[in-house]
Amino acid sequence: MGHKPAAIAAAMAAAILWTVGNASAAPKSKPNQIKYEYVSPKDPAHQPIHDQMKQGRALEHLQELLSPLRLSYPLTLKVAGCGAANAWYDDEVITVCYEMLADILKSAPPQDLPGGLSRADTVLGPILAVFLHETAHAVFNMLQIPVLGREEDAADQFAAYVMLRLGKDEARRMILGSAYHHAIQMPGTHVTVPIQSLSGEHSTPAQRTFNILCVAYGADKTLFADVVERGFLPKDRAEVCAREYDDLNFAMTKLIKPHIDQRLAGKFHGTWARTVNARRANLARR
Ligand SMILES: [Zn+2]
Repeated sequence: MGHKPAAIAAAMAAAILWTVGNASAAPKSKPNQIKYEYVSPKDPAHQPIHDQMKQGRALEHLQELLSPLRLSYPLTLKVAGCGAANAWYDDEVITVCYEMLADILKSAPPQDLPGGLSRADTVLGPILAVFLHETAHAVFNMLQIPVLGREEDAADQFAAYVMLRLGKDEARRMILGSAYHHAIQMPGTHVTVPIQSLSGEHSTPAQRTFNILCVAYGADKTLFADVVERGFLPKDRAEVCAREYDDLNFAMTKLIKPHIDQRLAGKFHGTWARTVNARRANLARR
């Protein structure tokens, strides 16, 4: 009313420019950005793993667990046949190979272990650790988190830290279960290896075992006291674990916590407790 056509045209042009300007800015980060995909296996031997995960809604449960992460883009959790036991993060997709899941299942002991570690924990622990380790790579990349030290070690620490938030009993089961998976790859108390095998981007299985146990012991000396008493974690290392955990806690609080939806994160423990029992019962039956 009363505006000259030229003024209206100018206002419209300004409005369009404003919209375009906004559209080219990075999308706003938000929670509930996790997607998932069960790719049909190429190798028929992996069909039971695919079926069991799908029926047990394993990726849906992981999606729910990771939903508090605030991201600008969706992150997809995928299980697929790859031709090798591997897992990786690339372009907003985490791929965990059926071959790796098969390896974890194959390495599980025939029955429960002493110290309160069930056969199911030796499967659930490493699987959770793999997904969380890859989530760490995704988080570092998508949120541009600076990483001091080796990214592979940082990803293991991230995974251990998140597992320690599950509540005491579950944290202990998942930490020991995932440590078990690295520990069984240790050849014995003395090692002779070609020097090149120490040049990899990952720490050796023995180091990964000690590292995860150290973070756990550093977080809770009482809950993980037996890890030192039984000699799984040497005393010399155990002495510095509180400091190692403090460093990790500081980094996670400072760098990662601002990207976590605290209201959804409050449900984290409950979500895990509700979803893990069915999977544990399933694994115990095999
Ligand atoms: Zn990695």
